[in-house]
Amino acid sequence: MSIKSINPSTNEELKSYQPLTKEETLSAVAKAHEAFQEWRKTSFENRRSCILNFAEELRSNTDKYAKLITLEMGKRISESRAEIIFCAEIAEFYANGAEEFLANEYMEVENAHAYIQHSPIGALMGVMPWNFPFYQVTRFATPNIMAGNTCLVKHAGNVPQCAEEIAKIFKQAGLPEGVYTNLLIPSDFVNSIISNDSIAGVSLTGSERAGAAVAAAAGKNLKRSVLELGGNDPFIVLEDADMEDVVEKAIKGRMVNTGQSCVAAKRFIVMKSVADEFLEGLKSGMAAMKIGDPLDESTDVGPLSTEDAAVRLQEQVTSSLNYGAKAILGGDRPERKGAYFNPTILTNVSKDNPTFDQELFGPVATVYVVESEEEAISLANNSSYGLGGSVYTKDISRGRKIAEQIDTGMVFINQPTNSQAGLPFGGTKNSGYGRELSRFGILEFINKKLIHNI
Ligand code: NDP
Repeated sequence: MSIKSINPSTNEELKSYQPLTKEETLSAVAKAHEAFQEWRKTSFENRRSCILNFAEELRSNTDKYAKLITLEMGKRISESRAEIIFCAEIAEFYANGAEEFLANEYMEVENAHAYIQHSPIGALMGVMPWNFPFYQVTRFATPNIMAGNTCLVKHAGNVPQCAEEIAKIFKQAGLPEGVYTNLLIPSDFVNSIISNDSIAGVSLTGSERAGAAVAAAAGKNLKRSVLELGGNDPFIVLEDADMEDVVEKAIKGRMVNTGQSCVAAKRFIVMKSVADEFLEGLKSGMAAMKIGDPLDESTDVGPLSTEDAAVRLQEQVTSSLNYGAKAILGGDRPERKGAYFNPTILTNVSKDNPTFDQELFGPVATVYVVESEEEAISLANNSSYGLGGSVYTKDISRGRKIAEQIDTGMVFINQPTNSQAGLPFGGTKNSGYGRELSRFGILEFINKKLIHNI
């Protein structure tokens, strides 16, 4: 079956590709393994120059790549531009920092010398999602290439043009053949790649379903894995928060990428004394957002990534309403062509409502009212997910105390969860394991080898 690039704002096909055959895929895997034998011996200087070339190309042709993201998966053009610039920053962060992050680590031992050498482990498989098509690949590939590993990427089926373009940029940046390879393949090839002896590890960002399948294959074959899965991030509003600022951040935190971010704020947990004011602000702000073509600079809400995604979200929202939830805004799709969904606010989502513990990957905010700090923390932790979260208060030490009791991989105080090159990113519980970005990210697929002499 062909792999199709479809513009979700019109549902029109842009391009179609024939996937690689199994034989072609296995030959690419063998090449990545072969390339590793040489790449691991290259200097940091050599690697740095290639990765800085990659960053430079993104900075020089930001608009070209941003437009491709917008056309293929519907991100608003200003957000697409920001994604490309962020990729350049990540690439520069690792190009300039890898040598220091991977320097030998000397240990205090009695009557002997000991140190840790950080060695690359081999060819890695990356399974990547469509929601940030350049960013997800960059945060997987650039640290690993700087570390001396080689990367094969199976990108999401709906962003084949972005996938091809990224591979071209890496090639043009000077990477030898096999150091970065785009695999245009269906997801059912992934298991056999993971079990191939030439593969040392796998990193996946995506759904729990895909994560569990990949982790099972990795476990069976004793390969290392990193999983970055979904989230249902709490956004906790305390009574002393600056309400105007909080409402603005709530809208930004929920509507980022039309709500299709694993760390978007999804569950708004608000103290009763400020709940009416918060809800009013959230409702009027979200209602005023202009739905439209994501290429139009004045659009506030673009389409979802695919028609299927919009249909799936409608099913989840309808089921939530059937279980007693109330839509105080939206709840349905606008009457226009494309994968659009109206900004929606749900209240009255009870704990037995199936959407209580589901990730709503779109512009749908769920608001809960609580009467105490303890109730807020308990509700925040009542989730099978554990990715990010945020707390809003003028009292930073109170904010930190609450943050320390939240079972997620990241908690931000007075700003929605976000991603920065120098900060570790990742979750706990069903949101996955391992970390990306920062020094932690480059150490995931590294052999921390002890060398000892007396
Ligand atoms: P998927 O998890 O299906 O897709 C992510 C990647 O995994 C794609 O490359 C996909 O390939 C691949 N994949 C899917 N199934 C398997 C498998 N069994 N073995 C190996 N690889 C697989 O996400 P969806 O696009 O279907 O989105 C579904 C939901 O997942 C969203 O609504 C959201 O909740 C969550 N999600 C979370 C993301 C995050 O950033 N954490 C990103 C994307 C989704 P292919 O596209 O070819 O199927």
